[in-house]
Amino acid sequence: MGIIDAMERLLFIKEDFCYLCRENRAKDYICSHCKGLIEFVHQRVEIKLPHIEGVYSSVLYNRFIREKLHSYKFQGKNYLYKPFGEMLLITLRENGLEDKIEGISYVPIHRRKEALRGYNQSKLLAEYVAKALNIPLLDKHLFKVRWTRDQSKLDRAGRMNNLASSFKAKNIKDFKGKEILLIDDIITTGATLMECSKTLMEAGAKGVYGLVLTSSMKL
Ligand SMILES: [Zn+2]
Repeated sequence: MGIIDAMERLLFIKEDFCYLCRENRAKDYICSHCKGLIEFVHQRVEIKLPHIEGVYSSVLYNRFIREKLHSYKFQGKNYLYKPFGEMLLITLRENGLEDKIEGISYVPIHRRKEALRGYNQSKLLAEYVAKALNIPLLDKHLFKVRWTRDQSKLDRAGRMNNLASSFKAKNIKDFKGKEILLIDDIITTGATLMECSKTLMEAGAKGVYGLVLTSSMKL
């Protein structure tokens, strides 16, 4: 799907209908039926990763969320950043993170992949959260510089090797000495979040908190 198609979808969406099912009327993007299918957690993920203070997650990775996330990433339903962004805002609020954060970053995808997809799903979430909280969005600061193999086909060790030094930080003065929120749509092994966080910390960030919509970690 190209950027024009994606833009059209965004323009013609009916605001007062549920963004997830497109059938029922809804306030704040989600109808009560869909709300009943979501298992909200808004808590810290049980994982300890180097270079990162903690990773927080909004909802359980159940079948409903898995399908919605898939259509968000791979079927051009980029407008889903709104209901997902609202969930992330609640997670930040409930964990007292809003006041700690001084800049918002996100997991970048390679520019060729972004061109193919038409958007970066994590960037859309970060933009939404940054705007709602009036916190600077760091959108010229973290880049994917290596084209890596598809992470989903690799085990944990393979993912770490695959990602090593594939991210690069720029415009470092904007986040040096600051607490950064790093947003991604999902945590699977933590390898991607950890590499991004490592890149930010090595460039001088004071601390990095992770925030994801959901976790499919198998512990
Ligand atoms: Zn619905």
